[in-house]
Amino acid sequence: MNYKRLSKKDKQHLWHPFTQQREWEMDKDITIITRGKGTYLYDSKGRKYLDGVSSLWCNVHGHQVPEIDRAIQKQLQKIAHSTMLGASNEPAILLAEKLVQLAPKGLTRVFYSDSGSEANEIAAKMAFQYWKQVKPARPKKNLFLTVREGYHGDTIGSVSLGGIELFHAIFGGMLFKTLKVKSPHDYPSRRVSNDQWLKDSVKEAEALFRKYGSRLAAVHMEPLIEGAGGMLAHPWGYLKAIRRLCDRYGVLLILDEVATGFGRTGTMFACEQEGVRPDLLCVAKNLTGGYLPVAATLATEKVYRAFLGTFGSLRTFYHGHTFTGNQLGCAAALANLGLMEKRGFLEGVEEKSLMLQEFLEPLVAHPHVADVRLRGMMGGIELVKNKKTNEPYPYEKKMGYRVCAEAKKRGVLMRPLGNVIVLMPPLGISKKDLAFLIEVVSKSIEAATS
Ligand SMILES: *Cc1c(COP(=O)(O)O)cnc(C)c1O
Repeated sequence: MNYKRLSKKDKQHLWHPFTQQREWEMDKDITIITRGKGTYLYDSKGRKYLDGVSSLWCNVHGHQVPEIDRAIQKQLQKIAHSTMLGASNEPAILLAEKLVQLAPKGLTRVFYSDSGSEANEIAAKMAFQYWKQVKPARPKKNLFLTVREGYHGDTIGSVSLGGIELFHAIFGGMLFKTLKVKSPHDYPSRRVSNDQWLKDSVKEAEALFRKYGSRLAAVHMEPLIEGAGGMLAHPWGYLKAIRRLCDRYGVLLILDEVATGFGRTGTMFACEQEGVRPDLLCVAKNLTGGYLPVAATLATEKVYRAFLGTFGSLRTFYHGHTFTGNQLGCAAALANLGLMEKRGFLEGVEEKSLMLQEFLEPLVAHPHVADVRLRGMMGGIELVKNKKTNEPYPYEKKMGYRVCAEAKKRGVLMRPLGNVIVLMPPLGISKKDLAFLIEVVSKSIEAATS
């Protein structure tokens, strides 16, 4: 169908996520993607764009990857989907084995779902039920300690666990209460030294553990960097310090690696960089290489065992989604992880991370760039109106969107987080394309802010 008719139908019938629909309806040049190849997307007007945010942080090796395409086609000749409730299937079994092999030691059980939000809700429900059933039971351990500016998804439970003020302002009345520790990003000492920054960041967490430790079911957080909150990096040593507190007070650690997992920060999982093993681990986004919606919550044997009992004991984990363990999705994930395990993949990510660092950090000198924050191939460039007074661009000025509009003109599709320009290229991007992305980002910032 031609662009004009599609565009009209879109505006008549669709409601896009995180989108002010009035502006969308007025936009005369909405992008309608028709195909993708490698790290490029093509639209119905025949334009070509670099996929600058990995189709929202999930694409790994690009589009139309022969190995993943083949795996899905092969699976399609057998079956697309059957239920995991009361039955099992080969791709789901083999993927579970693979995930346990790749994950930090101790995580031995895989519970599937379809999105990062669900993987997080499942982890929280598991932790909550765990303390009711562990021997001896500790039913008073029912509080969650979370980090401000954290993001764990958009369903009610995952928003409750998150710490983004805007969402809490709107949906506050629907959410359950959690304890919140200040985001490390909010300590000015982050500009002084890692030691001082770490000390300042851990202090409040220690106080909260002292006061509420016996009531805490779990700490629920993103490791190393808070993504959707604005690419807010944590000091080195923070995750390890939180793990130690969890151990001292008998609290479970739930890590949300939906964004950071599968190589994004340079290691298979971000928590490896701090030598930390969580009790529950949430993964999604990169898992299928950006092909299909599969998510998983991994648990330790210790957590799993608290759910064992007779049928009548009511210790079952009463949770499950229709498309859990979907064969096509699991087949795609297996092919994606197979490519990741090939020699040189993580090394390539490391090299490209260094390249990002080398070319982006000089941007700090720009009069409207407040900060460049990177962890591996995941980063943000924060723009400010006035660098001296730290005055931000007002929300309604849409500075982030303006930069992305400039990038679109130059052949790159991106999506900002407020005044933060997000850098999340597909992990498998070539160095040439990465150089192009960096160049377009710099030029677009210049064009939008001058
Ligand atoms: C994207 C994201 C989620 C939510 O995942 P969905 O698949 O969009 O529900 C959760 N946690 C983190 C850290 C994320 O980046």
